[in-house]
Amino acid sequence: MNEGPLDHLIRMLAGLPGLGNRSARRIALHLLERRETLMQPLARAMERGASEICACEACGNLDSISPCGICRDHGRDSAKICIVAQVSDVWAVERTGAFRGRYHVLGGLLSALDGVGPEELRIDLLLRRMEALCAPVAVPAGGFAEEEKVQQNFEVILALPATVDGQSTAHYVCDRLRKYPLKISRLAHGVPVGGELDYLDDGTIVTALNSRSAA
Ligand SMILES: [Zn+2]
Repeated sequence: MNEGPLDHLIRMLAGLPGLGNRSARRIALHLLERRETLMQPLARAMERGASEICACEACGNLDSISPCGICRDHGRDSAKICIVAQVSDVWAVERTGAFRGRYHVLGGLLSALDGVGPEELRIDLLLRRMEALCAPVAVPAGGFAEEEKVQQNFEVILALPATVDGQSTAHYVCDRLRKYPLKISRLAHGVPVGGELDYLDDGTIVTALNSRSAA
């Protein structure tokens, strides 16, 4: 049976994360009632996004150019690489303005349950990046190798979720990075800002106690 355009639209919308059939129908109506002001501009934005946005060949971030804006920004500290699972994590860290290094987006987490192995993630790319950054670099005559100066104080920050998959991915990445002369750190886990101890689960309190810092 041939699916009509309305059913097709609703089915496509229902496939978006967090939307079921009911919200998909509501959104379809909302769009159709605002054909000129919303639906058509949205369709054009989606088409443009699909053709112009690409994954950065160096770090996996999304941008309209590759290498991405962050990788091309010479004002950023190339001696610090923050490893995250998703592009949305780059956005989350960027929102804080507290990190001025670069990123590496794995593109997911290792998961035995979902059958995600290392080859599904950008781990090989990360190792190649480390190879280029941490291996001795010959300074070309008359020029300078940008990475040369970063070797002394190189740091990788694992900013992966505090979930089973997040932590096993962190463990795996850490193991693979051991052979490089770099400092590996991870985000602190513990009491959230504004959090009351009484409301936290035991695991959070234990981790916070174990990773306490000097007051
Ligand atoms: Zn990049």
